[in-house]
Amino acid sequence: FSTAVEVSATTTTAAKTIAVPTGHGTAVEQGDPTFLESVDIYFDKAATIASATPDILAHIKAYNNILKVQFPLKCANGTVELIEGYRAQHSHHRLPVKGGIRMAPNVDAEETMALAALMTFKCAVVDVPFGGAKGGIKIDPTKYSANEKESIIRRYTSELVRKSFIGPSIDVPAPDYGTGPQEMAWIKDTYEHLKPNDINGAACVTGKPLEEGGIDGRQEATGLGVFFCLRDFLDDEALVDKLGLTTGIKGKTFIVQGFGNVGRHTIDYIYDAGGLITAIAEVDGGLVAECENGIDIPALKAYHKKMGTITSFPGAKTVKFAPGILELPCDVLIPAALETQIHSGNAGNVKAKIVAEAANGPVTPLAETILEGKGVVILPDLLLNAGGVTVSYFEWLKNLNHIHFGRMSRRMEEKGQRMLINALEAELGNGHKISHEVRSQVVKGNREVDFVWSGLEETMLLSWENVKRISQERNCNYRTAAYLIAIERIATSYRVSGIFP
Ligand code: GLU
Repeated sequence: FSTAVEVSATTTTAAKTIAVPTGHGTAVEQGDPTFLESVDIYFDKAATIASATPDILAHIKAYNNILKVQFPLKCANGTVELIEGYRAQHSHHRLPVKGGIRMAPNVDAEETMALAALMTFKCAVVDVPFGGAKGGIKIDPTKYSANEKESIIRRYTSELVRKSFIGPSIDVPAPDYGTGPQEMAWIKDTYEHLKPNDINGAACVTGKPLEEGGIDGRQEATGLGVFFCLRDFLDDEALVDKLGLTTGIKGKTFIVQGFGNVGRHTIDYIYDAGGLITAIAEVDGGLVAECENGIDIPALKAYHKKMGTITSFPGAKTVKFAPGILELPCDVLIPAALETQIHSGNAGNVKAKIVAEAANGPVTPLAETILEGKGVVILPDLLLNAGGVTVSYFEWLKNLNHIHFGRMSRRMEEKGQRMLINALEAELGNGHKISHEVRSQVVKGNREVDFVWSGLEETMLLSWENVKRISQERNCNYRTAAYLIAIERIATSYRVSGIFP
């Protein structure tokens, strides 16, 4: 979905042909503001009605630190390649600063800065006490072996350590587009080698594998957060009524762009709740459901696991060039890939009633105006995809506390359940024993993932209630409401802490 994607004619697999619009170029080709300009435009729009002084607004808007690194990689074939990476720290009103690291060919300083700013505002919307940051490594990760990627990540991490751009109390990376738990494990390991006296070393990065200090539920967190908000929106009779929809996820049609960590889990929860996934767009092609029940998601997941792609899945029509999929009819369109995917060139053709921003910055300001002119409701990224960093916060707390959430209370619970089982068995008499299955049913629950999910649900729903209320009180859209909440929280923090020195 990057600007590198060529948009081309309607297309096909040999057997199945479907007329999908061709898409309408990229945001850059359309002359939309750049991603960085877009974030500034959204900020400025909220800033004009925010209660904060101009100097504090300027302080909030500024991009505090931007690090560019270049280092050599010894490739498997013996050649040496120069690798370019970035880390941008947007706001230090809370420490550490927080945000993912992406690996993609279109990474650059501006994109990293825009994403860092979104992290600042996102954390403030869900009241997670971090400043905002983001990192990027300018490579196409599919073109490198696991060993090469490990070298790149370890060297990048060492550059961050040398420049004090990483640490549990300084700056804490996480997964993003093109990275996942494996990369986070390499970051942790490198950091701990270089900083052996940091007893909180494990908290230098989140999104780690469970065995390396990760938290149960982090992988699903962003998708689950998207689902919690969407579910609440669609259950609100007054809101859906205005869109001419009935309440509930069940039976609604959804189109999702992206089958990565965010898209895949979002799709899962929607499917389980009875939503119909009618089309999915991916970087190498897309799928359009052939029957009115939508795509069979468990079958698609099994296919994807085996083939490493969704294209040519036998249960749906494959479309070779996916951008036009965003223009197909549906109730909810969920961009869950990269920024600026909905722009002035295609926004007019979007037929969804709701655009749910699971990605960061998927809708340009020009597109927002066009969509809103058509009565489309946008659920903004700052709120909708904040589930990931929320659970990262839980992981960071877990690492700092050197505990496993749920363990102690689970033991207490098990003790209580054992007493209950003993009492039941005594009551039943005659040496009667409760079966193993029943026992394990009774002691189930109260695991780490239960804590994580309930904390995530509470955070998402409270934040959404707040955004909804502010949008009504201040008579603005949800995005501006989210920016207002963030700006006013950060402004308070800057005002109270004063200026150093
Ligand atoms: N990369 C994710 C985001 O854009 C997660 C960041 C984090 O967990 O720190 O929100």
